[in-house]
Amino acid sequence: MIYVCIVKKWNFETMNRTAQINKLKDSEIWDIVIIGGGATGAGAALDAASRGYKTLLIEQYDFTKGTSSKSTKLVHGGVRYLQQGNIKLVFEALRERGRLLKNAPHLTSTQAFIVPVYSLWDKIFYGVGLKVYDVLAGSLSLGKTKLLTTKQTIQQLPSINPNKLYGGILYYDGQFDDSNLCIEILGTAQKKGATIINYCKAIGFIKDKEKIAGVEVIDTYTQHIYKVNAKAVINATGAFTNEVVEMDDQNQQDFVTPSQGIHFVINKNLFEGSAAMMIPKTDDGRVLFAVPWYGKVIVGTTDTPIEKSNIEPKALEEEIKFLLEHINRYGTHKITRADVNTIFVGLRPLISTKNKGNTSGVSREHALHISLSGLVSIIGGKWTTYRKMAIQAIDNAAFVGKLPKKNCVTANLPIDLSVEKQNAINEIIETNPEYENKIHADYNYQLAEIVYAIRHQMATNVEDILSRRIRLLYLDARLAMQVAPMVASVMSKELNQQPDWIKQQVADFNALASKYILD
Ligand SMILES: Cc1cc2nc3c(=O)[nH]c(=O)nc-3n(C[C@H](O)[C@H](O)[C@H](O)COP(=O)(O)OP(=O)(O)OC[C@H]3O[C@@H](n4cnc5c(N)ncnc54)[C@H](O)[C@@H]3O)c2cc1C
Repeated sequence: MIYVCIVKKWNFETMNRTAQINKLKDSEIWDIVIIGGGATGAGAALDAASRGYKTLLIEQYDFTKGTSSKSTKLVHGGVRYLQQGNIKLVFEALRERGRLLKNAPHLTSTQAFIVPVYSLWDKIFYGVGLKVYDVLAGSLSLGKTKLLTTKQTIQQLPSINPNKLYGGILYYDGQFDDSNLCIEILGTAQKKGATIINYCKAIGFIKDKEKIAGVEVIDTYTQHIYKVNAKAVINATGAFTNEVVEMDDQNQQDFVTPSQGIHFVINKNLFEGSAAMMIPKTDDGRVLFAVPWYGKVIVGTTDTPIEKSNIEPKALEEEIKFLLEHINRYGTHKITRADVNTIFVGLRPLISTKNKGNTSGVSREHALHISLSGLVSIIGGKWTTYRKMAIQAIDNAAFVGKLPKKNCVTANLPIDLSVEKQNAINEIIETNPEYENKIHADYNYQLAEIVYAIRHQMATNVEDILSRRIRLLYLDARLAMQVAPMVASVMSKELNQQPDWIKQQVADFNALASKYILD
């Protein structure tokens, strides 16, 4: 009885969009404004807020609509960088991998990987390399690297093509749910006092004697423009960095050159076993992964330079052919276009070599740039090292904004809202028992999670729910289209919307989801 009373009173401070946007109305000065709600921006928001700086983050679409929901979902040190001899980068990423698995255990996990080998030399080469990878992880190792015989390799990877197989190497890395982790990082930042708003775009800078003194932002739902004063502004816009830099200085050369990577999601019976496969070097020098994820398998990826960043990049025919050809070369099941449940594409914001400005190579993976006007741009990197990038961004923003020096406290800071989430879901079900039902019989997602995402995670439309809170678009795009009307209907009740709204939402979602289907 006492327990029920406590649950009924449950009311934790959450990401409520109206409450958050109201904070833009007062004319206070923010210590740090962060543009971009992907991994880099979210990490910066958590770092800044937990140090005690008055922090605002704005995202032009939904959180992680950019690359941060479209990764291969690996928390890794980067075996590829080891091959390139970049020990420092691998060492740093392995530290961050260990921290992330400890700080966010509910959204990350340890995953066994197998590198199949086709000669004795490869077995020695990759065996030694992956032993070094494990040694570099030190006490944060996720499991011992082992050499496998051909028989053991086939046992672990039942779908591997046995032709000329010489054995394999077993090693361990991390895996995660990228967009949900980002949303929890933002939720944690909000609990630490940050103001976090989606569908709010930076459209210009406010300047005082050539120095940035704030940002002009537009609420893309109401078209209302706010002038936001800030002591320091961080540009964490990934593949869109150049556009924001241009708003500051039209003569600045490009900072990033986008390069896209595509992924297929296929059913588990087409690539069986609980281990992931990693091909360190395909015949044209790329890395190929087949990784189990939420009961499916993600296959990827490519690395194709493109001219212009797009929030929904499109896979090129040559990339599709490359991926099909290679997964069929290494696997025994013949995978066709019809077997692909979902195809998704992310953009790497590669540091442009054209930029001759004062870009400081913090590492080969990411860079930090401070413009003459004081704009702090944090560029490149990877999801796994988001926390490290955030430290550098906030240290530099504090310097630019002349803020009191405060040390980073995120190294052991838990990013885990799972208890709050479960309590809130229980409460929703208590009031509406029908919301205990599943969205689809084959998946464990409950209808109550839709309501939770609206009330506590700023989901505003069907795409926000089915892409980035409940990952059905990434698991099976056709199935996501099937359940969209039901999701829209539940949302309409919560948001007090009319049948026309449901119709429009379903049409909008179907238009998007059709781009995730491979015809
Ligand atoms: C194919 C691929 C696979 C990858 N796999 C992995 C992996 O397995 N593991 C790993 O560690 N890393 C991986 N990475 C790298 C990782 O995904 C990226 O480094 C990371 O997601 C980049 O995050 P970001 O926040 O910098 O960019 P983004 O996630 O793109 O976020 C930038 C945000 O800024 C917003 N924005 C832009 N302009 C404005 C504006 N004017 N106002 C407001 N908001 C704006 C955008 O809408 C966007 O949401 C992968 C990358 C790719 C491309």
